[in-house]
Formats: sequence, C-alpha cells, structure tokens
Amino acid sequence: MTVTTGITTTSQALRADLETPSSRELRRAEARTAHNYHPLPVVVEHAEGAWMTDVDGARYLDMLAGYSALNFGHGHPRLLHAAQEQLSRLTLTSRAFVHDRFADFCAALGDLCGKDLVLPMNTGAEAVETAIKVARKWGYEVKGVAPGTAEIIVMSGNFHGRTTTIVGFSDDPGARDGFGPFTPGFVTVPYGDLTALEAAITERTVAVLLEPIQGEGGVIIPPDGFLAGVRTLCTRHQVLFAADEIQSGLGRTGRTFACDHEDVVPDLYLLGKALGGGVVPVSAVVADREVLGVLRPGQHGSTFGGNPLACAVGSTVVEMLATGEHQARSRDLGVVLSERLEAMIGHGVLGVRTRGLWAGIDVDPAVGTGREVCERLMARGVLAKDTHGSTIRLAPPLVIAEDDLLWGLEQLAAVVGG
Ligand code: PLP
Repeated sequence: MTVTTGITTTSQALRADLETPSSRELRRAEARTAHNYHPLPVVVEHAEGAWMTDVDGARYLDMLAGYSALNFGHGHPRLLHAAQEQLSRLTLTSRAFVHDRFADFCAALGDLCGKDLVLPMNTGAEAVETAIKVARKWGYEVKGVAPGTAEIIVMSGNFHGRTTTIVGFSDDPGARDGFGPFTPGFVTVPYGDLTALEAAITERTVAVLLEPIQGEGGVIIPPDGFLAGVRTLCTRHQVLFAADEIQSGLGRTGRTFACDHEDVVPDLYLLGKALGGGVVPVSAVVADREVLGVLRPGQHGSTFGGNPLACAVGSTVVEMLATGEHQARSRDLGVVLSERLEAMIGHGVLGVRTRGLWAGIDVDPAVGTGREVCERLMARGVLAKDTHGSTIRLAPPLVIAEDDLLWGLEQLAAVVGG
C-alpha cells in the first residue's frame, strides 16, 4: 500500500520556508488559539471510513477515531443520511418544547441499556456532572444521607472530563493544578482495589463512579472480578454504581458496554462520544426511574441536550448497535490487534493491554516518548495518540478494513522495532 504523507515532524511543519497548505494552517491556528492542546501537525480536510486526507492531499489511517467518538468511522452513510434528513426538517426546539425525535431516541437508548429513563446532554463531561447531581440527590431523597454530606468514591488514575468539579477529583496534576478551589465530596481509592473501596464506603457514600476501562489512563483494564465486586459492594451498601462508559461503551471493547465483559449492570450508564456518531455531540445518563426520577423540572437541563439533530443521529447509532454487528467486528479485529501487538513485546514494546479494538501500548522509553512515536507514525501515514509518557493508545474505527489495520500495525512495528 502506498501512502504519501505531507509532513514529518512538528518542527519541520512549522518552518516558514517549507510552507505548504498544512504548515500555513498550523501556523495560523497556533497564532489565534488557546494552547490547551498540542495536536500532531496534520490539518485534515476530509475523511471517509478509517482514512483521513489532509490539506496537502496526504492520506492517513485514523487509529484514534476521535477517542472512540468515531466508532462507526468518518462519514458513515447511515449516520450522514439521518443527519441530513433531520437538518432540513428541524434542528432545535430546546427542551421548552417536545419534538418528534425525542421519545424514540430515549426509548431506544433506554432499551439498549435495559433501563427506564434517559437524560440527554451534549458532552461527556456534562453526562458526568449530571450523574454526580443525580447521585447526590438520590442520596438525600432515597438513601436518607444527611443534607450536604454526600460522598462519591472515585478511582485513582481517573479521567472523567474537564469541568472544575471533575478535575477536582483527578489525580493528574496536569489536569488539576491551578484550577482550584475544588468541589468537596469525593474520595479516591486505588483503581482495581476492592478492599480499599469497601473500606472507603460510609453511610454518606451515595455512589461509586468509575471507568470500567480507563481510556485516558492508558487503556487500563481492572483485575478480573473487579467490576462484579463493585456491583456486589454497591448493592450491599445501598450505593449507586455509576459506570462512565463514555469512551469504553458502544462497541469499542467488543461488547456494547465494557461492563458486559463481567455481566455487570451498573445503576447509571454515562454515555457520550460514539453516541453522536462522530457527527454531533450527544451524551446521556441512563438509569432506572428510582434513580433518574429524583430530578424535577428546573433542577437540571441543557439548551442543546436532546435536540432533534442529536436524537436523529443518536437513534441511528442505537439502531446500528442493536444488531451486534459492530461489537462482533470489534471482537474479531480485536483478536488480530492483540496478536500483532503481543508479537511486538520485546521489540520496542514493554507491554500491551487490549480489549476489543482498543489498545494501550507501553513503548520502551529508549525508543522515544509517546509523542515522538506518534510523530514517526504520522510520517508513515498513521495517526495515533500518546498518553502518559510512552504509552500509545490505539482505537481505530470499528469499520476499519482488516488489511488497513494490519498495515497500520506494520507501521507501528517498524517505528518501535527500529
Ligand atoms: N469520561 C471519559 C471516560 C472520557 O474518556 C472522556 C473524554 O475523553 C470524558 C468523560 C469527557 O468527555 P467530553 O470530552 O465529551 O467532555
């Protein structure tokens, strides 16, 4: 397969004497945007399936898929059709009025999760904030926790988004430092440690909030039995189990939800990313009436949450997941991914973690930083993302062709293996 790439490294891309359409756009973006991201020096112009093309005409295999927001790939015809049909009919009503796509979306998503009620929002962080509010209110009204004292137990290494409340219970200094004071009411225990979790539960505990697999943390998979153990403890102590499946859910791991791998049903599913099909931001909290029913008019909301366009696309996502086809593809290609990555251990790779079509790869620091590895991959026409030092995360669209996946993994083997 021949792939032409326009740019090789950040420094090269930013040199004015080598100006290309890409480097011009990078320079312009650098000049006028807050530097809250350090993107790879690629300027994407269009994309289809698992392939992106930049403004210089170079093609790249997308091995990140918008952190799983693009599980169905770029420009999936069904999703585009749903969006286009809805765009020309009705896009926004606000929740002051009901629209004709709302009930169907909520019913379909509720059914997919096996839950009574759906509360649609937009971004993942909003879904997490929503779950925190719901859990606290449930704690006061249903569990009988003393007013103003509710506690939520979270995990070390968590990533749940970027609001001030959420970064307040992150243990990543980069996410947290400089943004205090923070919201009280959170207790952190080591991820995967059931003994520590049980010890942390008090009569004030209203919820345990966790990612069934920690994506930003480096695709960290908890020990077998951990999720089932959390379920047992939550039930025993009358505590809500809130599973942040924003990155792990909707097919990424080879099942609809990462919790399914342990046949665990949490009390609240927090969903986002792929729910919007890579087309619009759509997130949701899904739970039974006993939990979500604590909210009454005026206590929570969002101007754009559950808008007609979001519901049209979200309903199509749910329909696509209902067949199980994408989950099966993730499982099957996940076997290929896992085999190829395991073979790289000892050849520039120290360890790998995979579940479905999702991988965290600890590259030997002698090979380079994660960022450097991603820049070298980019030079070979593969786009991936580093996280925490020398860890690379792969999350290609579930629709990726097997040959393309194999080709992308060959590029990785060449980059890390020297
Ligand atoms: N929760 C998890 C597990 C995530 O991975 C993310 C984003 O990466 C979020 C929440 C936040 O989602 P958003 O960026 O849409 O606010």
